[in-house]
Amino acid sequence: MPTRSSSTQGSLHGGDPACADCHGAGMRPRRNGERAEVDLCGCIGVCRTCRGGGWVPVDANDPRSRRRRCACHEHRVRILRFNDAGIPARHAGSTRTSFNMDRSTGSVLAATTKWLAQYNPGGENRGFVLHGEVGRGKTHLLVAVLRELVFKVGVGVRFVEFSHLLAALKAGFDEGRGAEEVLRPLVEVEVLAIDELGKGRNTDFEQMVIDELVSRRYNAGGVILATTNYGPGSGTGLRTLNAGDAEIRTQTLVDRVGHRVYSRLRETADFIEMGGEDYREKLARRRREV
Ligand SMILES: [Zn+2]
Ligand SMILES: [Zn+2]
Repeated sequence: MPTRSSSTQGSLHGGDPACADCHGAGMRPRRNGERAEVDLCGCIGVCRTCRGGGWVPVDANDPRSRRRRCACHEHRVRILRFNDAGIPARHAGSTRTSFNMDRSTGSVLAATTKWLAQYNPGGENRGFVLHGEVGRGKTHLLVAVLRELVFKVGVGVRFVEFSHLLAALKAGFDEGRGAEEVLRPLVEVEVLAIDELGKGRNTDFEQMVIDELVSRRYNAGGVILATTNYGPGSGTGLRTLNAGDAEIRTQTLVDRVGHRVYSRLRETADFIEMGGEDYREKLARRRREV
């Protein structure tokens, strides 16, 4: 067990910078089934500011003054929020530091840095859509941004993979429950991240789901972040159900999600292209070379 540094007591993270497990972050990533979660790091002992009670006087010199939540409590709240966000286990350790930066993705990283710096909690914010071919690290970067939104900015986030959302809705219908139970948390959260937008068979049901979700968030002024393999631009007009593989590759996002969803995304989010090398291919090549 590392020794605790008193200088970090009462800080938001409260971890010990010398801790080999968390390097001062005060938490450690872990996988819980399909989900990525974090644990409070063992280097955080009982808080000296509030002695573990979670409340401190507003006026530090007057113990009888009104009380406010201690910073250690906010750290725990943020951990619970992160664990509730639905981030997939394979991205338990995805951060912007671990994001593989090459020349063409460096500008994308800079764009997300700027976006995070300008984020106004509880206020009006634009979203963004990361688009590009598979293997460019879009989901990794999206999760890294969500992590910082939770732990540095202090806002609630939800991550949903589009195909998982459809499966959850279908299961809900089969069990006689409506869509509301699944959709409401996604509508109400401050930042919603949709992974693999436009993926799927593009059926009427799928279009209806994405239309409802995006419309309700649009009306509520909620931020949408997304990743997609489909670029912006005018559509081909091809319906996926009738299209072959080669034709599907030429489709754009508007073909996949419909005009209404697409125009709402254009209005409320910036489209950021992710180029660069296919990261999975690069890893495979490195393994072959070793
Ligand atoms: Zn630690
Ligand atoms: Zn405390």
